Amino acid sequence: MPEVRVSHLFKKFGNVNVLNDIDFTINEGEFFTLLGPSGCGKSTTLNCIAGLEQPTAGSIAVGGTPFVDTERGIYVPTEERNLGMVFQSYALWPQMTVSKNLAMPLSIRRASRGDKAERIHDALDKVGLSHLKDRYPHELSGGQQQRVALARALVYSPSVLLLDEPLSNLDAKLREQARAWLKRLQEDLGITTVYVTHDQDEALSLSDRIAVMFEGHMAQIGTPKEIYERPATAHVAAFVGSCNFFTGKLENRNGRICQVRLDNTGAIVTIVADGDFTIGQEVTVAIRPEKLAITPEAIDVAGVNVLHTEVLTRSYVGSRYEYGLRLGRNVVQVVSADGGLDGAVRLVFDPEDALLYPGVTIPSQEAQELMTVSA
Ligand code: ADP
Repeated sequence: MPEVRVSHLFKKFGNVNVLNDIDFTINEGEFFTLLGPSGCGKSTTLNCIAGLEQPTAGSIAVGGTPFVDTERGIYVPTEERNLGMVFQSYALWPQMTVSKNLAMPLSIRRASRGDKAERIHDALDKVGLSHLKDRYPHELSGGQQQRVALARALVYSPSVLLLDEPLSNLDAKLREQARAWLKRLQEDLGITTVYVTHDQDEALSLSDRIAVMFEGHMAQIGTPKEIYERPATAHVAAFVGSCNFFTGKLENRNGRICQVRLDNTGAIVTIVADGDFTIGQEVTVAIRPEKLAITPEAIDVAGVNVLHTEVLTRSYVGSRYEYGLRLGRNVVQVVSADGGLDGAVRLVFDPEDALLYPGVTIPSQEAQELMTVSA
């Protein structure tokens, strides 16, 4: 039985449609992430699961038990859903010690004194904070407060854990440590987890599966690898990781092998693509920076997809160099271990490594800026 089933969820605030037919199933024990830009409806979806918002239409069931079903008039209040929640703000009670913070949800659930003590001890043990049980929240670091919030969400053994940007108040270094730690804890506990973030790195590193959302719509659901390597739309490609985009026209096609004439240079590139493309159609080609190789112009390269370019910018970023290359009116981003490239170079890519999408919309503002060389 699926652990969390969200079916055809719609939500309106006033007459604004914030969720449009959101539909997904989370398996038992899965770490499932809702990823998307700010305002796309991630928290609203999570809040509908938690019972903090009522959907306008649709249904949600956990472990086969319906929590909300607008057609059948079912609505289970938050406190009867037995879900653990952690918010970005942690929302610890400042006047209570760590132990008292954890005791609160147990008191609400009328746990006995002995049961309470044992549960508080277990939950603090899980997050490695037993030694701080008598401290007040202001006596703890940000990372420790975040763990207390997590312990408080786990203390009554919830069936599902709901986490809304729980790491975003931590600084970069701590956030990375907390990420690894959270992943390990979730795996050890085997608890079904719904995680909300706008941070693609966080989503890729933590999740079993990711649901990418834009403007209240579900764009793609898949494993981190599927989302990164086979983004369903150019928007997903632009949002998850960096990507170069080129517009063009489909000149020729033979089965999966498509030939595209790029608008900016007139060069013809070959791309292996699935999908319904017709000759003459306007298309967008997307290529990840790491899928592009640079070779000096002096070295002769035979084969398809060899483009003549020139180095505009080069920056050293520790493990590699990031290059900006001129291709017609575009700047192409490429990464390379070689820091010595300059002047005229060739850009080479494998036809299997480019992605092809219908239409010529360049997905994001950032991508658009990347593509424009200042005059
Ligand atoms: P995300 O979590 O992806 O940042 P939210 O789910 O918080 O997005 O919000 C989605 C949209 O709904 C936003 O445009 C937001 O302004 C709007 N919204 C959220 N909560 C309310 C509310 N209580 N009343 C009106 N509009 C809301």
